[in-house]
Amino acid sequence: MRTIRKPEELTKALDKLRAQGKCVGFVPTMGALHEGHLSLVRAANRENDISVVSIFVNPTQFGPQEDYTKYPRVLGADRKKLRTVGADYLFCPSTAAMYPEGFNKPLKFAGAKWPRLARGLCAKFRPGHFQGVVTVVTKLLRITGACRLYLGAKDCQQAAVIGQLIRDLGLDVRVRVMPTVREKDGLAMSSRNRYLSADERRRALTISRTLFRLRRDLQRNAGTVAGLRARAFHELKKDMDRVQYLEVVDAETLHPARRRGRKRVALAACFVGKTRLIDNVIIPPSRIP
Ligand code: AMP
Repeated sequence: MRTIRKPEELTKALDKLRAQGKCVGFVPTMGALHEGHLSLVRAANRENDISVVSIFVNPTQFGPQEDYTKYPRVLGADRKKLRTVGADYLFCPSTAAMYPEGFNKPLKFAGAKWPRLARGLCAKFRPGHFQGVVTVVTKLLRITGACRLYLGAKDCQQAAVIGQLIRDLGLDVRVRVMPTVREKDGLAMSSRNRYLSADERRRALTISRTLFRLRRDLQRNAGTVAGLRARAFHELKKDMDRVQYLEVVDAETLHPARRRGRKRVALAACFVGKTRLIDNVIIPPSRIP
């Protein structure tokens, strides 16, 4: 595995490979890697000639009160994991290289699709977050020239926003969204799980448990969507320090979904102690009227 820090150096190395007809699969991350990240790298290895993983804690996607400075940075351990799964390139640029003097966030959300995708759900509670995400992802796609981009279903709004951006800008890259990897007891893997105390870790389990139960109840048609959602919200609130949202939405548009004929997703964001966790489960379309 080759580690590269300078954007122009990575572009040069990958240009050469692309000239030989090789295709690049790209996995953007913020590091503190776990099995969720590694599953994306394995998929990139399987489906491409070259895999590239970036580790960059992107300041533009954190709000002023968020955990940018304390976000875990464990490059040595991450490199070992990436070697084990067989990534070809690790790209870990400095902040100055990604955002040189005079940088001005260029991308703004406009147009009819954005209000829900980039202003609802997480965006409502993290203003500017997705603008930072699409800015860095667009830059990283330009640097890597990837033909496939690997994202986790765990961040389903992020995947929807990036998918929309790629379509809008006509970028020549295919998005591959891979399933959420969970701990044995159901907790969705997250770099932020390492912030949790033993008690918080125990309470965090309520998130996946509530979402699984909500999915089961929706599939069994055990009540109205509004009623089942309200019950789930109440359950979740008992163990969380704060629930930002729990919603059932159309998996594509992220608009509130009541129709069972479409693929839906139940998703939640909450605080356990000072740690903000998100999770979601896909609810396949059902044929019951
Ligand atoms: P992050 O380092 O948190 O920015 O995540 C980098 C990528 O890994 C994103 O596409 C995430 O959606 C994905 N990811 C994070 N956690 C998981 C998980 N538990 N399962 C699958 N993918 C994940």
